[in-house]
Amino acid sequence: MANEIAQPGTRRTGAKRRLRAVTRKLRELGSIGSALASTGHPYMAHIVPMRRCNLACTYCNEYDDVSKPVDIEEMERRIDHLGRLGTSVITISGGEPLLHPELDRVIARIRKTGAIAGMITNGYLLMPDRIERLNRAGLDHMQISIDNVMPDEVSKKSLKVLDAKLKMLAEHAEFHVNINSVVGGGIAHPEDAYTISQRALGLGFSSTIGIIHDGSGQLKPLGGEEREVWDRVRKLTRRSYSRFNQFQEAIANGKPNDWRCRAGSRYLYICEQGLVHYCSQQRGYPGVPLAEYKTADVKREFLTEKGCAPNCTISCVHQVSYIDHWRAPQGPNSNSGLAVGGQGHGVTEQGAGLVQIQ
Ligand code: SF4
Ligand code: SF4
Repeated sequence: MANEIAQPGTRRTGAKRRLRAVTRKLRELGSIGSALASTGHPYMAHIVPMRRCNLACTYCNEYDDVSKPVDIEEMERRIDHLGRLGTSVITISGGEPLLHPELDRVIARIRKTGAIAGMITNGYLLMPDRIERLNRAGLDHMQISIDNVMPDEVSKKSLKVLDAKLKMLAEHAEFHVNINSVVGGGIAHPEDAYTISQRALGLGFSSTIGIIHDGSGQLKPLGGEEREVWDRVRKLTRRSYSRFNQFQEAIANGKPNDWRCRAGSRYLYICEQGLVHYCSQQRGYPGVPLAEYKTADVKREFLTEKGCAPNCTISCVHQVSYIDHWRAPQGPNSNSGLAVGGQGHGVTEQGAGLVQIQ
């Protein structure tokens, strides 16, 4: 990342930031090495410390406005269990994680297991001192989804509101920051995605673009203007063409993908009740308490075919599963009731249809 600010008082942060980026990269390479060496452990888990959110995006099915934060001791037990399973990357999701009063302890506990610590946030509650606390807790990655330039009835995750937060991050964050923009899903001005990505790259962050489909559970091709913007955002860097291009293209074209989803194995979604689910859009499968989830479950789900895979838009699970794309074929198990498709926060904030731009 090239987000050092050449101003008095920020040089030390720049040096620290570079050092942390190098050590983070080494840890990430180590985690990929261990994933290639053995299939008996998860690579990534998303964990929800509270379901409540301070916003109410109309396409989202992953928040409420009432629930309490999960008790910190219980969060630590869950994180420790993910560590015992050998999870390489633990990402805090929501709801809005910054509403959790003990978030720094959650992050520190993730680091204590040896895992890479990530967080998905809407960014509204970021302030300089909050960012410094996240630095001290050991956060490695942050992702913020920005849906439009001006707030509207669909989403208030808007560049106009969040630009001041992005500047704070550029100045204070020692962790990696990714800004995700979207097209589709009722977003009124597709062109906004280009403006948001340009701003993110200009501040030295990486940027991704996601596709939100409508709530029908069916993939649909992007409309003309959406497709044009999506292509232009991807052209902001040549790297966008080299990674997972086929998967992204199929989603943009509304076509099914042929792949092996390793959810329940390489990827776990842990809800606020501490249950293991395949992903945010397949809650209920397998739906067992994390404390009872064993390596044998990880190995079983590795080989379990997911009937929802062809129409899946959850790119982070696809990317995790790609580590093992050359490995064992899958067969049926007891998940025939899986829903097909799905829509919500997982689509935009867990990285559906993402194209990495750095
Ligand atoms: S998409 Fe994110 S910010 Fe919007 S309501 Fe859902 S959890 Fe909150
Ligand atoms: S929706 Fe996608 S990520 Fe979730 S279980 Fe189905 S194929 Fe896997």
